[in-house]
Amino acid sequence: MSERLVIIGGGQAAFACAAKLRALNDMRPISIISREDAYPYQRPPLSKKYLLGEMSLDRLMFRPTEWYAENAIEVLTGVNAVSLDRPGKQLTLSNGECLGYDKLVFATGSTPRSLPDSLTQGLEGIFTIRSFGDADRLRPHMVAGKRLLVVGGGYIGLEAASVARHLGLEVTVIEAAERILARVAAPATADIIRSIHRTHGVDLLEGVGLKALTGMAGRVTGAELSDGRHLEVDLVIAGIGAFAEDSVARSAGIVCGNGITVDEFGRTSDADVYAMGDCAEQDWKGLRIRLESVQNAVDQAENVALNLTGANVPYRPKPWFWSDQYDVKLQIAGFNPGYDETIVRPGGREGACSVWYFSGGDLIAVDAVNDAKAYVVGKKLLDSGKPHQVREAIVDPAVDLKSLT
Ligand SMILES: Cc1cc2nc3c(=O)[nH]c(=O)nc-3n(C[C@H](O)[C@H](O)[C@H](O)COP(=O)(O)OP(=O)(O)OC[C@H]3O[C@@H](n4cnc5c(N)ncnc54)[C@H](O)[C@@H]3O)c2cc1C
Repeated sequence: MSERLVIIGGGQAAFACAAKLRALNDMRPISIISREDAYPYQRPPLSKKYLLGEMSLDRLMFRPTEWYAENAIEVLTGVNAVSLDRPGKQLTLSNGECLGYDKLVFATGSTPRSLPDSLTQGLEGIFTIRSFGDADRLRPHMVAGKRLLVVGGGYIGLEAASVARHLGLEVTVIEAAERILARVAAPATADIIRSIHRTHGVDLLEGVGLKALTGMAGRVTGAELSDGRHLEVDLVIAGIGAFAEDSVARSAGIVCGNGITVDEFGRTSDADVYAMGDCAEQDWKGLRIRLESVQNAVDQAENVALNLTGANVPYRPKPWFWSDQYDVKLQIAGFNPGYDETIVRPGGREGACSVWYFSGGDLIAVDAVNDAKAYVVGKKLLDSGKPHQVREAIVDPAVDLKSLT
């Protein structure tokens, strides 16, 4: 009898893991438990084309529902996994059912941080974006002439700001830190992105926090900012980060840090339980990190699938990420913590450039702005896993990047 696999969460990583097992011809029984009322779908368009209304729900789906039946993958939607009995290998669901498992995988993702109740005071018109339901609730409010306040200058907030400008809203972005993208990108990249938003008419305020929201008849109508400014607003989007969905694992006594702690094989502190994607905390060159990206969700999930078949292959993340804002495609390869130098290199055409991150002279990451060549070359170098002392070549615009690979 083959082992029964239960995957908690029905997003990017859950789909990738189940699909990989079937591609490996592994026909063990698989159940995916999803608290959302939908089969697995992709999230990146939720703050891009889907929010803009240019993409339908059907196109978000990784596969049509029949695919799961054809591949003997059971998907339970609209149910929450609530608790885990590890000695008995039983998972309890919110509908009262208990599911037995041989192997269990957490693919529970992350949950956006909400503004505290002391600020929101139960007012309507305040949104976060994680699910298609969130985007559906937000979209009717994204109407030309309305005044939007985006709290948080990270990728999701900035993408929402770009969609809103496209739709004709007046947009203010506030970032409490000294600059936008402070956790994820160098000042040089933030400078480029800031300038693009300002050119598109966004009022972008850095080092400015939210002190209070005010409302009338239960709806948000204003915002008091930490610099003393008062804004009239019709809606607010909070893009202030996300935390790992690890509560079920934590209360079952599985070791968690900033997410569910896994080893290089994707295993948690319980040898029959794995975790992958946004919810998993893993090692990266001695740092404990959590990656919130499609690349990590897919690659780590496929690696877990391999290891479920007994392959015992360690997972080595090769991070890449993208963000679409206006007509700008930002592509990021590598992971930049610990950089001690950045070099900005002009691209081959107007508006294209790249920011190269070095640590001790070694290339560690590249942010490419409308510059596919820089992204492809940077990614190739970084994926090789070897140290690359390419600083001199990057500084010299006369050097053809392709010659580096
Ligand atoms: C708006 C937005 C834009 C993004 N843009 C990009 C981008 O441009 N590029 C990029 O690389 N990445 C982007 N990301 C990140 C990317 O989508 C995530 O990293 C990826 O979806 C992670 O996959 P996952 O399977 O770990 O989690 P998810 O896809 O979030 O799936 C987790 C699922 O588990 C469910 N769940 C949680 N707990 C339980 C439970 N107890 N029981 C049952 N179900 C549960 C959740 O409701 C959710 O459906 C974006 C994310 C968002 C929200």
